[in-house]
Amino acid sequence: MFTIAIHGGAGTLSKSAMTTEKEKAYHTALQAALQAAKIILENGGEALNAVEVAVIGLENCPLFNAGKGAVFNHNGEHELDASIMCGKNNAGGAVAGLKHIANPIALAKMVLQKSQHVMLMGDGAEQFAKENGVELVDQKYFYNEFRYQQWQKIKDENTFALDHSVEIKNPKMGTVGAVAVDVHGNLAAATSTGGMTNKKWGRVGDTSILGAGTYASNATCAVSCTGHGEFFIEQVVAYDVHCLMLYKNLSLQQATEFVVMDKLKKLNAEGGLIAVDKNGNHSLVFNSEGMYRAYFNSNQNKVVSKIY
Ligand code: ASP
Repeated sequence: MFTIAIHGGAGTLSKSAMTTEKEKAYHTALQAALQAAKIILENGGEALNAVEVAVIGLENCPLFNAGKGAVFNHNGEHELDASIMCGKNNAGGAVAGLKHIANPIALAKMVLQKSQHVMLMGDGAEQFAKENGVELVDQKYFYNEFRYQQWQKIKDENTFALDHSVEIKNPKMGTVGAVAVDVHGNLAAATSTGGMTNKKWGRVGDTSILGAGTYASNATCAVSCTGHGEFFIEQVVAYDVHCLMLYKNLSLQQATEFVVMDKLKKLNAEGGLIAVDKNGNHSLVFNSEGMYRAYFNSNQNKVVSKIY
């Protein structure tokens, strides 16, 4: 038995802006990323590797606000955050404020496996990348006309917006993530983002914070979040789901729905999360209009991808 679930952000293009072609492109990208991870899991591979591979696939796709599709910050630059966690031993790796790394999630995994630290940021993280043979890319690698136009619309205002929307009144989210339980019963979670359009230089969101945007424990669940990061940090969202299951014996569905549809909603904190538990159940919950998402559960044996 194994399960893998992925997301491409809780801020889908609104239904009115979505075309048949765009919708097809999103489904194709989600299914390709899911498929790459599924192959690992059906061959007995580890959840930690599967979530990394799924997220790399999404980071390499310009449709999502992570890796290649990362948004612009207030200075007209790209700063990327990511984290990964292994449920077997609660080991985590996180990176923040990267400017020259094409696949932040792979660097987060290197921090987990090769560094004595849990979190590295900025120049120090990139120095660590170089020392470990990771090639640095120019900022131009992340250039995307659509994201540039998003930034142009708000760059002179003292505000910031979540991924897809150029309408500040209707902000949208990006970010990508994956959660999995493998045939050995091990869980893992991974999340990666370009953050929010026009965010201040140095702003770090929930994505690189273990317990906020990412969490995994074999005792309960693996969680990857997307949404307005400031709220997700303050509410320690991913860890909250874990705690509700561990201390209160809530099921995965009950815990995730309470956090996203009750707690976050009451705070007007738009977003969602994907989660799997140790029994292979999955939960994909969001309080926004949609959330790019896909999953494969070996019991059901069918790839499912959805947007709204
Ligand atoms: N959570 C991300 C952040 O605040 C944004 C997102 O999910 O789109 O950086």
